[in-house]
Amino acid sequence: MITASCLCGEVGWQYDGAFASMSHCHCSMCRKHHGTAFVTFVTGPGRGFSWAGGEGSIRWYRSSEHNRRGFCVRCGAKMPMLLSEHDLAILPAGPLEGDPGLRPQRHIFVGSRAPWYTITDSLPQHAALPPGLSASVVSRPMPETRPDTISGSCLCGDVAFEIGAAPRRMYNCHCLRCRRARSAVHATNVFYPLESFRWVRGESQLTDYALPGAPYFGTSFCSRCGGMMPRSGKEHGIVTVPAGSLDTDPGMRPLAHIYVGSKAPWFEITDTLPQFAEMRAR
Ligand SMILES: [Zn+2]
Ligand SMILES: [Zn+2]
Ligand SMILES: [Zn+2]
Repeated sequence: MITASCLCGEVGWQYDGAFASMSHCHCSMCRKHHGTAFVTFVTGPGRGFSWAGGEGSIRWYRSSEHNRRGFCVRCGAKMPMLLSEHDLAILPAGPLEGDPGLRPQRHIFVGSRAPWYTITDSLPQHAALPPGLSASVVSRPMPETRPDTISGSCLCGDVAFEIGAAPRRMYNCHCLRCRRARSAVHATNVFYPLESFRWVRGESQLTDYALPGAPYFGTSFCSRCGGMMPRSGKEHGIVTVPAGSLDTDPGMRPLAHIYVGSKAPWFEITDTLPQFAEMRAR
């Protein structure tokens, strides 16, 4: 039995049995919904899955004709997908507590990969789905050129923002809070000066969640689709932008991995970026 919960602890779930597959998905919907470079999923027979509480706090967003994506209404963490007609459970691996017993097998939807993320492992890469599976996911690549203004939006498009300055820093964060908040193996965040940031539309549709006991950690997301959105730390004068929410290339690339001391045991870092057990030394 392996368990997981959302960031706020309201929604929990568990899986009993062996998983069948593990894939990194780079599709634009996953990137936007989770705010990350990619999302790692494990799949298994639906009968092994059960909720451990909090189902009433899940909101479902119909992201395509065949698919709906859920998130916790309080903290925005992303939920497993259950395809009952196929007896299939698809679970985000990032928040799993413990070892799921298998390792990533492939990258899918690499054709719409974020330009700021480079794959450095030797796993097979598929432009969409592996041969034999039909793609019901609509995905789009991101432009590689960098305009003067950086823009981003949520999955449904109701919320959008613009940034008129160069980023200060960009990190991949492996802490358990980020893994739960993003339901991914690590967050990738870009940090901008607060004065360069503005909402273009939909600001009133945001939900903000401040993690109790953590002075700076929280989430901001679209209340309709759950897409992860920027959050400002007014004390710091910095806005933290989930890189997956960007519609344009930020021009910077991740500078380091931080909090690798709490990295998921099944994920191997294969790039050459510096690694810090906790926060990067200033
Ligand atoms: Zn929650
Ligand atoms: Zn995907
Ligand atoms: Zn939205």
